[in-house]
Amino acid sequence: MYAALDIGGTKIAGALVDDAGVLRGRAELPTPARESASRLADTVDAVINALALHPAWGTVRGMGIASAGPVDTANGTVSPVNIPAWRAFELVESVRAHPMLFDGIEPVLIGDAVAVAAAEHWRGAARGAANALCMVVSTGVGGGYVLNGRLHPGPSGNAGHIGHVSVDLDGPPCACGSRGCVEGYASGTAIARHALRAGWTPPPGREPSAAVVAESARAGDTRALAAYDRSARALAAAIAGSATLLEIEVAVVGGGVARAGEVLFTPLRRHLRGFAVLDFTRRLTVRPAALAQDAGLVGAAAAARGHVPQEVTA
Ligand code: ADP
Ligand code: ZN
Repeated sequence: MYAALDIGGTKIAGALVDDAGVLRGRAELPTPARESASRLADTVDAVINALALHPAWGTVRGMGIASAGPVDTANGTVSPVNIPAWRAFELVESVRAHPMLFDGIEPVLIGDAVAVAAAEHWRGAARGAANALCMVVSTGVGGGYVLNGRLHPGPSGNAGHIGHVSVDLDGPPCACGSRGCVEGYASGTAIARHALRAGWTPPPGREPSAAVVAESARAGDTRALAAYDRSARALAAAIAGSATLLEIEVAVVGGGVARAGEVLFTPLRRHLRGFAVLDFTRRLTVRPAALAQDAGLVGAAAAARGHVPQEVTA
């Protein structure tokens, strides 16, 4: 059994995960994202307390922590963009100091999108793939790579930040400081913004969001379809770039926006044929993510199990 934590800007989730990657116990608290570093750490401790009540806690052999990034896995610190009080916060040290953690258990830190890649490779849509990219398209856009059958977190755990690869030299400035980033076209935030700018309005009483844009697209609204087409084009360029550089065979796309289904995947596959043009890139397949909300927890457990950056065994 492994203990897993998934720390995001909205919630702090924890679970016990068995050797087959199945969740056995789960706990969750809202992230006090605007509060102090120590209040945040108390919330992580409270989630661990809840897990420690589970009858299987005594069989825990390792702990993985997936966190919103940037992370610094070499130093065990996190600086999540959406959690301002944590800058170079010593998360691994803080978790290790929890009184319920057994001696000898060394928490393993992993970025949240890299965790999703680990999870999809262990028991999801990238299972069995030697070279894969897993993208998380939600409020932002993240990603992680499996290369030569192994997770590739990179030296600081941040490899795969595909949302901040530029696909437009003269594109709009991005919050990261660059311009024309994939995230500015492909994220749920960008889809809603683009649709609104094109004159789309949500149905009465609904907030504008990528989810509502998807409903309009399904009903044939051309502005909503155009917003998804633009997102799909940016994703296709990024995926094709990865295939060209790294010979990835599989691209898995998950996150809330992937729930749009064919509204996203049909234009994505079409645009990919325009970008992935060299012979060796043409075998690339795009698949929706197989694991839903709990991919981060499963990936954290995969990290604990495989001791990232070593092999994540199948
Ligand atoms: P988070 O960004 O907090 O990780 P999600 O992965 O749920 O959360 O992503 C939220 C984004 O996904 C929002 O932009 C939302 O509009 C979009 N989304 C959620 N459900 C759907 C859906 N069924 N179709 C398209 N977009 C969706
Ligand atoms: Zn950027």
